[in-house]
Amino acid sequence: MIVRTPYWIRLLVLMAAPFSCFHLVVARAQTSATPVITEYRLPPGKLARSEALYRSQMILFVAGTVSAPLVLTLLLVLRISARYRDWAERASRRRFVQALVFAPLLVLTIDVLSLPLSLYGQSLQLSYGLSVQSWASWWNDWIKGELLTIPVALVLTWGFYWILRRSPRRWWLFGWLMSIPLMLLVVWGQPVFIDPLFNHFEPLEAKQPKLLPEIEKVMRRGGLTIERSRMFEMRASDKVTTYNAYVTGIGASKRVVVWDNTSKDLTIPETLYIFGHEQGHYVLQHIWLGIGLGIAGLLVAFVLACRLADGILARGEGRFGVRGLSDWASLPFLLLLANLMTLAGQPVGSAVSRYMEHQADVYGLEAIHGLVPDSAQVAAACEQKLGEKSLSYPAPHPLYVAWVYSHPPIAERLRFALQYQPWNSGQPLRYFP
Ligand SMILES: [Zn+2]
Repeated sequence: MIVRTPYWIRLLVLMAAPFSCFHLVVARAQTSATPVITEYRLPPGKLARSEALYRSQMILFVAGTVSAPLVLTLLLVLRISARYRDWAERASRRRFVQALVFAPLLVLTIDVLSLPLSLYGQSLQLSYGLSVQSWASWWNDWIKGELLTIPVALVLTWGFYWILRRSPRRWWLFGWLMSIPLMLLVVWGQPVFIDPLFNHFEPLEAKQPKLLPEIEKVMRRGGLTIERSRMFEMRASDKVTTYNAYVTGIGASKRVVVWDNTSKDLTIPETLYIFGHEQGHYVLQHIWLGIGLGIAGLLVAFVLACRLADGILARGEGRFGVRGLSDWASLPFLLLLANLMTLAGQPVGSAVSRYMEHQADVYGLEAIHGLVPDSAQVAAACEQKLGEKSLSYPAPHPLYVAWVYSHPPIAERLRFALQYQPWNSGQPLRYFP
């Protein structure tokens, strides 16, 4: 249940898998053979595996946090960036041709140096059974990613340095202004042009004809219509075993996507809870909120980068072969600044994301209440399955949660699902007055 937010927020939630706390005490109801969920808990074997996975993911997170700035620093210190700049300048006097040499070389170098960690991350997913993607398919995705990144990086690099040279004092303002339509373009275009390159999507109506009328009941409760043409099922079972659903796109591309694993393994009431949660993101305009925060965050980043970059580069004049800010060779330095600022902003981004996820949980709980029998148990069972499938660790460290988690830990979500019952005490509902 991940809301697709703009790139900056996704950067901030690097390891956004909804793994969390389970202490699920399963008791037997006296009147029924169905276990009553009172808490999140994993069976002993899974608990041990989830703890081992949690530790490995933390190591991966720390390694990723350290390695990205390290790679960029090496490019500067070893004068690799300066050498690429020399090659670019030797190739042509025209700036665009220079960018055509410099940007792809730099992107490929960074991505190749980052490969060992990506490979480790994928092998971890495979060894814990969370991924079933073949290595051939994984490499295919990696190559496609590079083919997509390189032209985008080329245009961005060329455009950014054009602004830098044209306006050495106000580049931060024009750079920020230019980033706004670009961000909107990416959020709008991602579900239409980028996602289908990596995964297969089909209309939910065609794949789940029985589910649609049920989903429409949830929508009617919210006084909302999401056209059937905006609901899709993604074939995730080729690559992963976990569940997910999300809201993505803006304007004409806005849509709800449910992974096929989700609808295969969950009951219809549980799927409705997930859908109610996604409907919450949709109605509460979380994508626009994310975009607004992203734009504000970028302004802070551009202002800070401008203040820091000029000062640092002026002091270290000519060091590492970088002639100044408007020199192509300064790019790893600017990326390093961006990386460090992103890291510093990560707890804020994660906290905002967790808040929106909590709002969507409240919406989902209210949306299915009365539509399915014992909605609290349905939601709790759904959280239990979600956590168990992702091997979510029951007791993540609060600092790690604060820094990294895009969703509240599963145990917390499950507990909330069981406790949130305003209808029992005559309290008003938050989203369905
Ligand atoms: Zn969500």
